[in-house]
Amino acid sequence: MKRLPWWRRPYFSRRVLEIGPGHNPFAGVTHLLERDIADGHERGGHALIVPAAARLIVGEATTLPFAAGSFDFVYASHVLEHVEEPEAACRELMRVGKAGYIETPSPFLEQGLALRDETSPAHWFHRWFVFSPLPGLLAFEPKSPEDVGRFCSCADGQFLREFFESLDFREAQHFFRRSSKTTVFYWTTSFQVEARDHLVDCRREGRPCRFTGMRQALIANCNDVLRAGRVRRLPRQYPKSRDVFRKYGHTSLFVR
Ligand SMILES: [Zn+2]
Repeated sequence: MKRLPWWRRPYFSRRVLEIGPGHNPFAGVTHLLERDIADGHERGGHALIVPAAARLIVGEATTLPFAAGSFDFVYASHVLEHVEEPEAACRELMRVGKAGYIETPSPFLEQGLALRDETSPAHWFHRWFVFSPLPGLLAFEPKSPEDVGRFCSCADGQFLREFFESLDFREAQHFFRRSSKTTVFYWTTSFQVEARDHLVDCRREGRPCRFTGMRQALIANCNDVLRAGRVRRLPRQYPKSRDVFRKYGHTSLFVR
């Protein structure tokens, strides 16, 4: 079973919903919502697991079959990147829950993997890049076959473009820690949602792009003392990635 870090767990929540828990629900849930209890396709063929004290309900994330304010806490982990209408799903989370936790793959992981993905985009499960460019705001950008090869014209976007070109991210992903590979978002009462219809270029549109957070997460990861051994193997395997860091003026444990 999954657990949040001990200081973030909803200890005083009596009714706790998880949406799309699949084979690995969070500890302490009282209600589970699954879209499809028979088909294990999007959870890798694993069987559902329902804890003894929890009820399983079948329904859609965009029309939750619960009254307003039914839950003290709502988990939605690796769900929102799949849904067709993320704005509707987020509105439903806020309607039925008083607080919650959202987790998705980060755009850093999503774009890095998609750039080298040889399967047809028609078979991609994930429809969205999900990120939080400002506190209290969750943004979605379409993960279309065109958009995975596009980068913002700002320095963050161009840095990421060159970084992804310098290595094979399918292998290199294992050098990075989980925090740079996931988007984690906690909310209480409500939050802002921005479902964008295209990749935002921050310089042209004056709105934050997804690459600023990506670059910050990448640099933080490469300065991570606890993972220094892992990060230092990266330039040995991919010497060009070190050149990209140098070109953009970054020094880190990874580039010395
Ligand atoms: Zn930008």
